[in-house]
Amino acid sequence: MRIAVIGAGPGGLYTACLVKRLRPQDVVEVWEADAAGDTFGFGVVFSDGALGGIEAADPVLFAAVTAEFARWTRIDVHYRGRTQHNEGYGFAAIGRHTLLRLLRERCAGLGVRLHFGTPAPLVSRLRAAYDLVVAADGVGSQTRARHPAAFGTERRTAGARYMWLGTDRPFDALTFAVVETEHGPMQAHAYPYADGRGTFIVEVGDAVWHAAGFEAAERRSGEAAGDGRSIARVAEFFSELLDGHGLWGNRSYWGRFVAVRNRSWNHGNLVLLGDSAHTTHFSIGSGTKLAMEDALALATALHDHRELPEALAAYQDERRPAVERMQRTALTSLEWFENIDRCVGLPPEAFNAHLLTRSGRLSRDDLPAVDPERVGRIRRRFADAA
Ligand SMILES: Cc1cc2nc3c(=O)[nH]c(=O)nc-3n(C[C@H](O)[C@H](O)[C@H](O)COP(=O)(O)OP(=O)(O)OC[C@H]3O[C@@H](n4cnc5c(N)ncnc54)[C@H](O)[C@@H]3O)c2cc1C
Repeated sequence: MRIAVIGAGPGGLYTACLVKRLRPQDVVEVWEADAAGDTFGFGVVFSDGALGGIEAADPVLFAAVTAEFARWTRIDVHYRGRTQHNEGYGFAAIGRHTLLRLLRERCAGLGVRLHFGTPAPLVSRLRAAYDLVVAADGVGSQTRARHPAAFGTERRTAGARYMWLGTDRPFDALTFAVVETEHGPMQAHAYPYADGRGTFIVEVGDAVWHAAGFEAAERRSGEAAGDGRSIARVAEFFSELLDGHGLWGNRSYWGRFVAVRNRSWNHGNLVLLGDSAHTTHFSIGSGTKLAMEDALALATALHDHRELPEALAAYQDERRPAVERMQRTALTSLEWFENIDRCVGLPPEAFNAHLLTRSGRLSRDDLPAVDPERVGRIRRRFADAA
Protein backbone atom coordinates (compact mmCIF):
# COMPACT_ATOMS: atom_id res chain seq x y z
CA MET A 1 0.00 0.00 0.00
CA ARG A 2 1.14 3.59 -0.67
CA ILE A 3 0.16 6.11 1.98
CA ALA A 4 0.55 9.90 1.86
CA VAL A 5 0.37 11.82 5.15
CA ILE A 6 -0.27 15.58 5.18
CA GLY A 7 1.22 17.16 8.32
CA ALA A 8 4.02 16.06 10.65
CA GLY A 9 2.37 16.88 13.96
CA PRO A 10 2.03 14.11 16.56
CA GLY A 11 -0.91 12.54 14.68
CA GLY A 12 0.75 12.36 11.25
CA LEU A 13 4.16 11.20 12.49
CA TYR A 14 2.78 8.56 14.84
CA THR A 15 0.54 7.19 12.07
CA ALA A 16 3.55 6.92 9.74
CA CYS A 17 5.62 5.22 12.43
CA LEU A 18 3.00 2.62 13.38
CA VAL A 19 2.03 1.77 9.80
CA LYS A 20 5.71 1.11 9.01
CA ARG A 21 6.04 -1.05 12.12
CA LEU A 22 3.07 -3.22 11.19
CA ARG A 23 3.52 -3.10 7.41
CA PRO A 24 7.20 -2.50 6.57
CA GLN A 25 6.52 -3.19 2.89
CA ASP A 26 4.18 -0.13 2.63
CA VAL A 27 5.46 3.17 1.22
CA VAL A 28 4.67 5.92 3.72
CA GLU A 29 5.44 9.51 2.83
CA VAL A 30 4.91 12.57 5.07
CA TRP A 31 4.80 16.24 4.00
CA GLU A 32 5.23 19.04 6.53
CA ALA A 33 4.97 22.70 5.59
CA ASP A 34 7.30 23.78 8.45
CA ALA A 35 10.99 23.00 8.67
CA ALA A 36 12.02 20.08 10.93
CA GLY A 37 12.37 21.38 14.47
CA ASP A 38 10.22 24.43 13.80
CA THR A 39 6.87 24.19 15.56
CA PHE A 40 4.40 26.21 17.63
CA GLY A 41 3.60 25.82 21.33
CA PHE A 42 5.41 24.59 24.43
CA GLY A 43 4.73 21.52 26.61
CA VAL A 44 1.76 19.16 26.30
CA VAL A 45 0.24 17.17 29.17
CA PHE A 46 -0.73 13.52 29.25
CA SER A 47 -2.80 12.18 32.12
CA ASP A 48 -2.13 8.80 33.72
CA GLY A 49 -3.90 6.03 31.88
CA ALA A 50 -3.54 7.80 28.57
CA LEU A 51 -0.35 6.06 27.60
CA GLY A 52 -0.98 2.34 28.00
CA GLY A 53 -1.83 1.77 24.33
CA ILE A 54 1.06 3.90 23.18
CA GLU A 55 3.49 1.87 25.28
CA ALA A 56 2.16 -1.43 23.90
CA ALA A 57 2.34 -0.26 20.27
CA ASP A 58 5.94 0.93 20.27
CA PRO A 59 7.99 0.32 23.43
CA VAL A 60 11.10 1.87 21.81
CA LEU A 61 9.40 5.18 21.12
CA PHE A 62 7.56 5.01 24.46
CA ALA A 63 10.88 4.63 26.33
CA ALA A 64 12.40 7.58 24.47
CA VAL A 65 9.36 9.78 25.13
CA THR A 66 8.89 8.89 28.80
CA ALA A 67 12.61 9.49 29.48
CA GLU A 68 11.91 13.15 28.68
CA PHE A 69 8.75 13.43 30.79
CA ALA A 70 8.25 15.89 33.61
CA ARG A 71 5.91 14.16 36.09
CA TRP A 72 3.78 15.34 39.00
CA THR A 73 0.80 14.31 41.08
CA ARG A 74 -0.84 17.57 42.17
CA ILE A 75 -3.34 20.12 40.96
CA ASP A 76 -2.75 23.52 42.56
CA VAL A 77 -5.39 26.23 42.57
CA HIS A 78 -4.19 29.81 43.18
CA TYR A 79 -7.07 32.06 44.12
CA ARG A 80 -7.51 35.10 46.38
CA GLY A 81 -4.02 34.85 47.89
CA ARG A 82 -4.36 31.14 48.78
CA THR A 83 -2.90 28.07 47.07
CA GLN A 84 -4.92 24.89 47.48
CA HIS A 85 -2.91 21.70 46.88
CA ASN A 86 -4.89 18.73 45.56
CA GLU A 87 -2.89 15.48 45.63
CA GLY A 88 -3.57 12.13 44.03
CA TYR A 89 -3.56 12.84 40.33
CA GLY A 90 -0.99 11.51 37.88
CA PHE A 91 0.27 13.71 35.06
CA ALA A 92 3.21 13.82 32.69
CA ALA A 93 4.25 16.43 30.17
CA ILE A 94 6.78 16.82 27.38
CA GLY A 95 7.82 19.70 25.14
CA ARG A 96 6.01 19.53 21.81
CA HIS A 97 9.36 20.26 20.16
CA THR A 98 10.99 17.24 21.88
CA LEU A 99 8.03 14.92 21.20
CA LEU A 100 8.12 15.77 17.50
CA ARG A 101 11.89 15.27 17.33
CA LEU A 102 11.57 11.78 18.87
CA LEU A 103 8.72 10.90 16.50
CA ARG A 104 10.73 12.19 13.52
CA GLU A 105 13.76 10.13 14.49
CA ARG A 106 11.66 7.00 14.96
CA CYS A 107 9.97 7.52 11.57
CA ALA A 108 13.31 8.01 9.83
CA GLY A 109 14.65 4.82 11.46
CA LEU A 110 11.64 2.85 10.22
CA GLY A 111 12.02 4.04 6.63
CA VAL A 112 9.26 6.68 6.44
CA ARG A 113 9.97 9.24 3.69
CA LEU A 114 9.85 12.68 5.32
CA HIS A 115 9.60 16.01 3.46
CA PHE A 116 10.01 19.00 5.75
CA GLY A 117 9.63 22.64 4.74
CA THR A 118 7.40 21.32 1.94
CA PRO A 119 3.64 21.92 1.76
CA ALA A 120 1.88 18.78 0.58
CA PRO A 121 1.14 18.47 -3.15
CA LEU A 122 -2.46 19.06 -4.27
CA VAL A 123 -4.80 16.63 -2.54
CA SER A 124 -6.35 15.55 -5.86
CA ARG A 125 -2.89 14.53 -7.07
CA LEU A 126 -2.09 12.70 -3.88
CA ARG A 127 -5.42 10.86 -4.01
CA ALA A 128 -4.67 9.72 -7.54
CA ALA A 129 -1.10 8.64 -6.81
CA TYR A 130 -1.57 6.98 -3.37
CA ASP A 131 -3.93 4.33 -2.05
CA LEU A 132 -4.66 6.40 1.06
CA VAL A 133 -4.21 10.07 1.99
CA VAL A 134 -4.18 10.92 5.71
CA ALA A 135 -5.16 14.52 6.46
CA ALA A 136 -3.28 15.16 9.72
CA ASP A 137 -2.98 18.86 8.97
CA GLY A 138 -4.38 20.22 12.22
CA VAL A 139 -7.35 22.25 13.40
CA GLY A 140 -7.28 24.57 10.38
CA SER A 141 -7.03 21.63 7.93
CA GLN A 142 -7.20 22.90 4.36
CA THR A 143 -7.71 19.33 3.19
CA ARG A 144 -10.89 19.04 5.27
CA ALA A 145 -11.99 22.51 4.16
CA ARG A 146 -12.11 21.33 0.53
CA HIS A 147 -14.87 18.80 1.30
CA PRO A 148 -17.10 20.31 4.03
CA ALA A 149 -20.25 18.52 2.85
CA ALA A 150 -18.60 15.09 2.48
CA PHE A 151 -17.11 15.30 5.97
CA GLY A 152 -20.12 17.11 7.48
CA THR A 153 -17.81 19.54 9.26
CA GLU A 154 -19.07 21.62 12.19
CA ARG A 155 -16.89 24.37 13.66
CA ARG A 156 -17.82 26.30 16.78
CA THR A 157 -15.62 29.18 17.88
CA ALA A 158 -15.49 29.85 21.63
CA GLY A 159 -15.89 33.36 23.03
CA ALA A 160 -12.81 33.52 25.28
CA ARG A 161 -9.33 34.38 24.02
CA TYR A 162 -6.20 32.48 24.90
CA MET A 163 -2.48 32.67 24.25
CA TRP A 164 -0.05 29.72 24.58
CA LEU A 165 3.14 30.93 26.28
CA GLY A 166 6.25 29.55 27.94
CA THR A 167 7.91 30.42 31.24
CA ASP A 168 10.94 29.60 33.38
CA ARG A 169 8.80 29.74 36.54
CA PRO A 170 9.39 26.28 38.10
CA PHE A 171 5.83 24.96 38.47
CA ASP A 172 5.59 21.52 40.10
CA ALA A 173 1.86 20.88 39.61
CA LEU A 174 -0.93 21.40 37.13
CA THR A 175 -1.67 24.96 38.17
CA PHE A 176 -4.81 27.00 37.73
CA ALA A 177 -4.55 30.61 38.77
CA VAL A 178 -7.17 33.33 38.76
CA VAL A 179 -6.32 37.00 39.06
CA GLU A 180 -9.10 39.47 39.69
CA THR A 181 -8.22 42.60 37.75
CA GLU A 182 -10.11 45.89 37.52
CA HIS A 183 -11.32 44.65 34.10
CA GLY A 184 -12.56 41.26 35.33
CA PRO A 185 -11.06 37.84 36.05
CA MET A 186 -8.20 36.35 34.01
CA GLN A 187 -7.00 32.80 34.38
CA ALA A 188 -3.81 30.86 33.70
CA HIS A 189 -3.35 27.11 33.13
CA ALA A 190 0.30 26.26 33.78
CA TYR A 191 2.48 23.19 34.25
CA PRO A 192 6.11 22.04 33.94
CA TYR A 193 7.34 20.14 30.89
CA ALA A 194 11.15 20.11 31.27
CA ASP A 195 13.82 21.30 33.71
CA GLY A 196 13.19 25.00 34.30
CA ARG A 197 10.53 25.15 31.59
CA GLY A 198 6.78 25.47 31.90
CA THR A 199 3.72 25.98 29.73
CA PHE A 200 1.63 29.04 30.61
CA ILE A 201 -1.72 29.42 28.85
CA VAL A 202 -3.54 32.64 29.64
CA GLU A 203 -7.30 32.71 29.03
CA VAL A 204 -9.48 35.80 29.19
CA GLY A 205 -13.19 36.38 28.49
CA ASP A 206 -13.87 38.50 25.41
CA ALA A 207 -15.25 41.53 27.31
CA VAL A 208 -12.32 41.43 29.77
CA TRP A 209 -9.90 41.10 26.85
CA HIS A 210 -11.23 44.30 25.24
CA ALA A 211 -11.45 46.18 28.55
CA ALA A 212 -7.87 45.28 29.47
CA GLY A 213 -6.62 46.85 26.26
CA PHE A 214 -5.24 43.70 24.66
CA GLU A 215 -6.93 44.64 21.42
CA ALA A 216 -5.09 47.96 21.37
CA ALA A 217 -1.81 46.21 22.21
CA GLU A 218 -2.37 43.92 19.24
CA ARG A 219 -3.11 46.80 16.90
CA ARG A 220 -0.07 48.77 18.03
CA SER A 221 2.30 45.87 17.54
CA GLY A 222 0.86 45.50 14.03
CA GLU A 223 1.01 41.73 14.07
CA ALA A 224 -0.93 39.01 15.85
CA ALA A 225 1.93 36.51 16.11
CA GLY A 226 4.58 36.95 18.79
CA ASP A 227 2.77 39.93 20.26
CA GLY A 228 5.40 41.25 22.69
CA ARG A 229 3.18 44.01 24.11
CA SER A 230 0.41 41.62 25.01
CA ILE A 231 2.88 39.18 26.58
CA ALA A 232 4.39 41.97 28.71
CA ARG A 233 0.89 42.96 29.83
CA VAL A 234 -0.02 39.38 30.71
CA ALA A 235 3.21 39.18 32.75
CA GLU A 236 2.12 42.31 34.67
CA PHE A 237 -1.31 40.89 35.52
CA PHE A 238 0.24 37.58 36.67
CA SER A 239 3.35 39.09 38.31
CA GLU A 240 2.58 37.54 41.71
CA LEU A 241 2.27 34.02 40.26
CA LEU A 242 5.31 34.45 37.99
CA ASP A 243 7.36 35.67 40.95
CA GLY A 244 9.98 37.47 38.86
CA HIS A 245 10.23 34.76 36.18
CA GLY A 246 9.93 35.35 32.44
CA LEU A 247 7.12 34.76 29.97
CA TRP A 248 7.67 34.40 26.23
CA GLY A 249 5.96 33.32 23.04
CA ASN A 250 6.55 30.83 20.26
CA ARG A 251 4.37 31.88 17.33
CA SER A 252 1.99 32.91 20.12
CA TYR A 253 -1.07 35.00 19.37
CA TRP A 254 -4.48 35.63 20.90
CA GLY A 255 -6.68 32.87 19.54
CA ARG A 256 -10.12 31.48 20.24
CA PHE A 257 -10.61 27.77 20.69
CA VAL A 258 -12.40 26.18 17.73
CA ALA A 259 -14.44 23.04 18.47
CA VAL A 260 -14.29 20.83 15.37
CA ARG A 261 -16.51 17.83 14.69
CA ASN A 262 -17.06 15.83 11.52
CA ARG A 263 -20.00 13.58 10.75
CA SER A 264 -17.76 11.38 8.61
CA TRP A 265 -14.01 11.02 9.08
CA ASN A 266 -13.35 9.73 5.58
CA HIS A 267 -14.22 10.58 2.01
CA GLY A 268 -13.13 7.93 -0.46
CA ASN A 269 -9.43 7.34 0.08
CA LEU A 270 -9.02 10.51 2.17
CA VAL A 271 -9.15 10.18 5.97
CA LEU A 272 -9.11 12.78 8.77
CA LEU A 273 -6.95 12.23 11.84
CA GLY A 274 -6.18 14.21 15.02
CA ASP A 275 -7.19 17.87 15.19
CA SER A 276 -8.41 17.87 11.58
CA ALA A 277 -11.08 15.36 12.69
CA HIS A 278 -11.88 16.70 16.19
CA THR A 279 -10.62 19.12 18.83
CA THR A 280 -10.88 19.25 22.62
CA HIS A 281 -10.41 22.36 24.75
CA PHE A 282 -6.86 22.72 26.14
CA SER A 283 -8.17 22.87 29.74
CA ILE A 284 -8.44 19.06 29.70
CA GLY A 285 -5.11 18.70 27.81
CA SER A 286 -5.83 15.72 25.59
CA GLY A 287 -5.57 16.69 21.89
CA THR A 288 -2.10 15.21 21.38
CA LYS A 289 -3.04 11.97 23.07
CA LEU A 290 -6.24 11.72 21.03
CA ALA A 291 -4.30 12.33 17.80
CA MET A 292 -1.84 9.57 18.76
CA GLU A 293 -4.66 7.19 19.66
CA ASP A 294 -6.28 7.90 16.27
CA ALA A 295 -2.94 6.93 14.69
CA LEU A 296 -2.90 3.68 16.63
CA ALA A 297 -6.46 2.83 15.59
CA LEU A 298 -5.88 3.69 11.93
CA ALA A 299 -2.64 1.69 11.69
CA THR A 300 -4.22 -1.40 13.26
CA ALA A 301 -7.39 -1.10 11.15
CA LEU A 302 -5.31 -0.95 7.96
CA HIS A 303 -3.43 -4.03 9.13
CA ASP A 304 -6.56 -5.99 10.11
CA HIS A 305 -8.79 -5.32 7.08
CA ARG A 306 -8.03 -6.25 3.49
CA GLU A 307 -10.33 -3.62 1.95
CA LEU A 308 -9.75 0.10 2.52
CA PRO A 309 -13.44 1.05 3.08
CA GLU A 310 -13.72 -1.59 5.82
CA ALA A 311 -10.51 -0.40 7.45
CA LEU A 312 -11.63 3.23 7.44
CA ALA A 313 -15.06 2.30 8.83
CA ALA A 314 -13.41 0.26 11.61
CA TYR A 315 -11.10 3.19 12.42
CA GLN A 316 -14.02 5.60 12.75
CA ASP A 317 -16.14 3.12 14.72
CA GLU A 318 -13.35 2.60 17.23
CA ARG A 319 -12.39 6.22 17.67
CA ARG A 320 -15.60 8.21 17.41
CA PRO A 321 -17.20 7.15 20.75
CA ALA A 322 -13.99 7.75 22.72
CA VAL A 323 -13.44 11.11 21.05
CA GLU A 324 -17.04 12.22 21.54
CA ARG A 325 -16.80 11.35 25.23
CA MET A 326 -13.70 13.52 25.57
CA GLN A 327 -15.35 16.31 23.57
CA ARG A 328 -18.31 16.32 25.99
CA THR A 329 -15.93 16.50 28.95
CA ALA A 330 -13.95 19.24 27.22
CA LEU A 331 -17.09 21.25 26.51
CA THR A 332 -18.09 21.11 30.18
CA SER A 333 -14.63 22.32 31.11
CA LEU A 334 -14.61 25.07 28.47
CA GLU A 335 -18.02 26.34 29.61
CA TRP A 336 -16.87 26.40 33.22
CA PHE A 337 -13.83 28.51 32.37
CA GLU A 338 -15.83 30.77 30.04
CA ASN A 339 -18.24 31.49 32.90
CA ILE A 340 -15.63 31.71 35.61
CA ASP A 341 -17.02 35.04 36.85
CA ARG A 342 -20.00 33.09 38.26
CA CYS A 343 -17.62 31.35 40.69
CA VAL A 344 -15.21 34.18 41.41
CA GLY A 345 -16.31 35.45 44.80
CA LEU A 346 -16.76 32.00 46.34
CA PRO A 347 -14.55 31.25 49.37
CA PRO A 348 -11.24 29.57 48.33
CA GLU A 349 -12.25 26.03 49.45
CA ALA A 350 -15.53 26.22 47.54
CA PHE A 351 -13.85 27.68 44.48
CA ASN A 352 -11.25 24.91 44.54
CA ALA A 353 -13.92 22.21 44.79
CA HIS A 354 -15.98 23.81 42.04
CA LEU A 355 -13.02 23.98 39.70
CA LEU A 356 -11.96 20.38 40.32
CA THR A 357 -15.43 18.96 39.83
CA ARG A 358 -16.58 21.56 37.28
CA SER A 359 -20.02 21.90 38.94
CA GLY A 360 -20.24 18.22 39.79
CA ARG A 361 -20.24 17.19 36.15
CA LEU A 362 -16.51 16.60 35.66
CA SER A 363 -14.77 14.34 38.14
CA ARG A 364 -11.55 12.40 38.50
CA ASP A 365 -13.41 9.48 36.92
CA ASP A 366 -13.65 11.38 33.66
CA LEU A 367 -9.90 11.09 33.22
CA PRO A 368 -9.02 8.15 30.97
CA ALA A 369 -8.31 4.91 32.81
CA VAL A 370 -5.98 2.10 31.80
CA ASP A 371 -7.90 -0.67 30.05
CA PRO A 372 -5.64 -3.76 30.50
CA GLU A 373 -7.58 -5.82 27.93
CA ARG A 374 -7.17 -3.20 25.24
CA VAL A 375 -3.47 -2.75 26.07
CA GLY A 376 -2.99 -6.54 25.85
CA ARG A 377 -4.65 -6.61 22.41
CA ILE A 378 -2.38 -3.83 21.13
CA ARG A 379 0.72 -5.54 22.54
CA ARG A 380 -0.15 -8.79 20.76
CA ARG A 381 -0.84 -6.94 17.48
CA PHE A 382 2.58 -5.28 17.52
CA ALA A 383 4.47 -8.24 19.06
CA ASP A 384 6.27 -9.19 15.84
CA ALA A 385 6.61 -5.69 14.44
CA ALA A 386 9.95 -3.99 13.72
C1 LIG B 1 -2.98 26.32 23.92
C2 LIG B 1 -2.98 24.85 23.63
C3 LIG B 1 -2.55 23.96 24.59
C4 LIG B 1 -2.57 22.61 24.35
N1 LIG B 1 -2.17 21.75 25.33
C5 LIG B 1 -2.25 20.43 25.12
C6 LIG B 1 -1.88 19.52 26.15
O1 LIG B 1 -1.48 19.91 27.23
N2 LIG B 1 -1.99 18.19 25.91
C7 LIG B 1 -2.43 17.72 24.72
O2 LIG B 1 -2.51 16.49 24.55
N3 LIG B 1 -2.77 18.54 23.72
C8 LIG B 1 -2.72 19.89 23.89
N4 LIG B 1 -3.08 20.74 22.90
C9 LIG B 1 -3.65 20.20 21.65
C10 LIG B 1 -2.59 19.71 20.70
O3 LIG B 1 -1.65 20.73 20.41
C11 LIG B 1 -3.25 19.22 19.42
O4 LIG B 1 -4.40 18.48 19.73
C12 LIG B 1 -2.29 18.33 18.64
O5 LIG B 1 -1.18 19.10 18.21
C13 LIG B 1 -2.98 17.69 17.43
O6 LIG B 1 -2.02 17.01 16.66
P1 LIG B 1 -2.20 16.89 15.09
O7 LIG B 1 -1.04 16.07 14.64
O8 LIG B 1 -3.56 16.46 14.77
O9 LIG B 1 -2.10 18.38 14.51
P2 LIG B 1 -0.94 19.47 14.64
O10 LIG B 1 -0.08 19.22 15.80
O11 LIG B 1 -1.61 20.79 14.55
O12 LIG B 1 -0.06 19.24 13.34
C14 LIG B 1 -0.52 19.55 12.05
C15 LIG B 1 0.69 19.79 11.17
O13 LIG B 1 0.27 19.88 9.80
C16 LIG B 1 1.07 20.83 9.15
N5 LIG B 1 0.38 21.27 7.94
C17 LIG B 1 -0.79 21.94 7.83
N6 LIG B 1 -1.14 22.09 6.53
C18 LIG B 1 -0.16 21.47 5.80
C19 LIG B 1 0.06 21.28 4.42
N7 LIG B 1 -0.80 21.74 3.49
N8 LIG B 1 1.16 20.62 4.01
C20 LIG B 1 2.03 20.13 4.92
N9 LIG B 1 1.89 20.30 6.25
C21 LIG B 1 0.80 20.95 6.68
C22 LIG B 1 1.24 21.93 10.21
O14 LIG B 1 2.36 22.74 9.92
C23 LIG B 1 1.42 21.10 11.48
O15 LIG B 1 2.77 20.81 11.74
C24 LIG B 1 -3.04 22.12 23.10
C25 LIG B 1 -3.43 23.02 22.11
C26 LIG B 1 -3.43 24.37 22.37
C27 LIG B 1 -3.87 25.34 21.30
